[in-house]
Amino acid sequence: MQHELIAAIATAHGSAGIGIIRLSGEGSVELVDAMFRPFGKTSLASADSRRALYGHIVREDGSTVDEALVLKMCAPHSYTCEDVVEIQSHGGSVVLREILAIVLDSGARLAEAGEFTKRAFLNGRLDLSAADAVMDVITAPTRASLHMAEGKLAGHFGQKIHALREELMTLIAHLEVVIDFPEDGVEELTDEEVTGKLEHIHAVLETMCRTFHTGRILKEGLPVAIIGRPNVGKSSLLNMLLGEDRAIVTDVEGTTRDALEEMTELGGIPLRIIDTAGIRATEDIVEAIGIERAREHAEKAVLLLALFDTSRPLTQDDRDILTMTEGKETICLLNKSDLDSRWDASDLLEWTGGKRVLTISTKTGEGIDALTHAVTELTYRDNLPDDTVGFISDARTEALIKKAKTHIEAVKRDFQSMAEDFLIIDLRGALEALGEVTGETVSEDVLNEIFSRFCIGK
Ligand code: GDP
Repeated sequence: MQHELIAAIATAHGSAGIGIIRLSGEGSVELVDAMFRPFGKTSLASADSRRALYGHIVREDGSTVDEALVLKMCAPHSYTCEDVVEIQSHGGSVVLREILAIVLDSGARLAEAGEFTKRAFLNGRLDLSAADAVMDVITAPTRASLHMAEGKLAGHFGQKIHALREELMTLIAHLEVVIDFPEDGVEELTDEEVTGKLEHIHAVLETMCRTFHTGRILKEGLPVAIIGRPNVGKSSLLNMLLGEDRAIVTDVEGTTRDALEEMTELGGIPLRIIDTAGIRATEDIVEAIGIERAREHAEKAVLLLALFDTSRPLTQDDRDILTMTEGKETICLLNKSDLDSRWDASDLLEWTGGKRVLTISTKTGEGIDALTHAVTELTYRDNLPDDTVGFISDARTEALIKKAKTHIEAVKRDFQSMAEDFLIIDLRGALEALGEVTGETVSEDVLNEIFSRFCIGK
């Protein structure tokens, strides 16, 4: 257990109704007791744990800084499992900074990024995947993202990993007995039982690996680029998806000259959506820069929404746009279905191949349900939306699960031909990789890196 007294402002910067300063570690109650004048008879030091007291935060000379509610949570029943005090004052930055300054002058140290959560992990309150999920809960872009993060925070993902580790340990113990006491009457697993267990572990790991595609989208958003020649309705589509007038919509070709990136959601799927400059052959230098950027964005995007205007004839620019979609996940959107159409999906067939083609109108909203459905399908693939608590959503975990899977594949391959000692090396490799996911076996460097992406006060 770590005892050094740390403190930080735990709420966001700026003006707000209330703001919170959090302290954790030995002496936090005594420190705040000295700077707090409760209105009631009970002092903070003598108050029960998990009680809130109302009073004034005062300077050394006794003058008042602000009114505050002070919450006392004694170890181990607190976020960090240490003594924690939270001061809830008004949420102005001057107020909060002055209270924090008094706390620091009184002997606390400013907490590092993620240090409260790191202590919660080090003190055994959260496993590493749950600790990591704290930031995912805070930054969750949609309800589906939040559901996934909350499940991880509640430890469901960690439990799955824990169950796999138990199975691995049973296998290792079995093989060690075979080596050490070959003639002993210890009950052994048959070869079929060992193979069955290996198959099961492998299948679970493989299913987990497949969830990364979905988990990453739910956590970070699906990078989507809207592409199309000028005036097909790209900005109109963006505005419709955002539900606001963010992009300029005009009849003048070439008005969107740079790319805009916006976060929005479609059917619970977070989208990092980029509206790009209209792509066409141009002599205009500024427009050409925008078009070049549009091409770069299109390359980086995971999903392309290629937009066409069916009220005007198809052009060479449209065909160039279809060339850009080669090898990329693409939904072709035939826009302006409310107008008389000059052509339809069959005219596009020779260029679109197997790509999805939907007819839409950003004016009437026609086809948006179908677009929502298509995006949802692309996101979940064969993963079940109800099972997101077990999804992998970060590259570190994905790499570790893959590593464990490779070790299990080696054991499966060598099971009949290699001695037990060799099999155990790979089983231990898998065990260790899974231990890194939950933090049972993890280096200080990795921990520092994980918690450094947290905010101060968390
Ligand atoms: P962009 O240059 O591709 O971004 O196209 P805009 O979104 O600026 O739209 C160009 C013009 O097409 C504007 O006058 C829009 O009002 C119009 N427009 C966009 N979508 C539709 C649609 O579905 N139906 C009709 N009738 N007009 C549309």
